[in-house]
Amino acid sequence: MSVQHDPVQRADFDQVMVPNYAPAAFVPVRGEGSRVWDQAGRELIDFAGGIAVNALGHCHPALVGALTEQANTLWHISNVFTNEPALRLAKKLIDATFAERVFFCNSGAEANEAAFKLARRVAHDRFGPEKHEIIAATNSFHGRTLFTVSVGGQPKYSDGFGPKIQGITHVPYNDLEALKAAISDKTCAVVLEPIQGEGGVLPADQAYLEGARQLCDQHNALLVFDEVQSGMGRSGSLFTYQHYGVTPDILSSAKSLGGGFPIGAMLTTSALAKHLAVGTHGTTYGGNPLACAVAEAVIDVINTPQVLEGVKAKQQRFTRKLQQIGEQYGVFGQVRGLGLLLGCVLNEAWKGKAKAILDAAAAEGVMVLQAGPDVVRFAPSLVVEDADIDEGLARFERALAKLTQA
Ligand SMILES: *Cc1c(COP(=O)(O)O)cnc(C)c1O
Repeated sequence: MSVQHDPVQRADFDQVMVPNYAPAAFVPVRGEGSRVWDQAGRELIDFAGGIAVNALGHCHPALVGALTEQANTLWHISNVFTNEPALRLAKKLIDATFAERVFFCNSGAEANEAAFKLARRVAHDRFGPEKHEIIAATNSFHGRTLFTVSVGGQPKYSDGFGPKIQGITHVPYNDLEALKAAISDKTCAVVLEPIQGEGGVLPADQAYLEGARQLCDQHNALLVFDEVQSGMGRSGSLFTYQHYGVTPDILSSAKSLGGGFPIGAMLTTSALAKHLAVGTHGTTYGGNPLACAVAEAVIDVINTPQVLEGVKAKQQRFTRKLQQIGEQYGVFGQVRGLGLLLGCVLNEAWKGKAKAILDAAAAEGVMVLQAGPDVVRFAPSLVVEDADIDEGLARFERALAKLTQA
């Protein structure tokens, strides 16, 4: 049964949408695995993954199965009741991590909002209102609500919306001395991405995260890891904190957690969770059965040795070829990142041109991302086929060949 829809085009975007995005000239209509087709029937290889969301590619059979089964069972019931998919997903997240309690919501920003509110609530209850300061990193990204842009270290996202949330300090990332100088007994939380995603695909130094953990313990501050982008297998470990062996007090997840269905989660310990007592926080859609059923299928597939080992092998395949392409065309030198979150750092002559490279790549039939103006980012499906990696990188190489000839 197929509904007849009114025809729409890219040009309609400018007539009907708030102009806060600048989408590409083509409109994707269908996806399968790591391939996407646009309205004209043109096929593209997807190394963008919906910005690190489509961790199992497009229309993965396990996810389609979970979604359609749940769609025929129960869609929404609200948090006046609990539901089976939410309880099962919470148990799986707890079994797989440090966490003992889970709060579900609908996005990364909301997971962070819950994390920051919990950190402040804990400090307020245990030590009083003075202990409310949050330290975060310059260039970090934590979402677009007022609290999360205030904690995020990019003024371009937080300026111009009236007074920001107070009590937030920013320090340079991977600079332990700066963190040491900033932290005090008024600090309630230190918030870090174990790999800065939007800020340029910059992994933390081992000593930095270990040092941050120690400083938090010394000052009774909570360590919050934003794993919205780095989590759910992206780094080759289920969560990146496990790769480093540095355990946070609170962790936020979203993006790949739903594999394309909107869901976010905040993970924490039971001792901290008890500070969000009945009525202190909530969201209508949080723990929605459809979202949780899909996320349960996502974690079932990803949290297996095959997929996680596969991420590391595919990382090798990507970086080997990318390094060769970067050298050959002189566009980028360093390829950094972890697992399948990779960034090509543009050389001096190409600085600021990440968007031009994205457009050239799309013209050759491969979707990639930028992470700021100076880094080309790859966040493909964690189960992308080797043949798709090779073909997509051949297209990427053709794009660079054309750009450098021009
Ligand atoms: C994308 C992202 C967010 C925001 O997630 P939304 O779902 O867009 O609200 C927060 N933190 C990090 C690290 C992200 O990459």
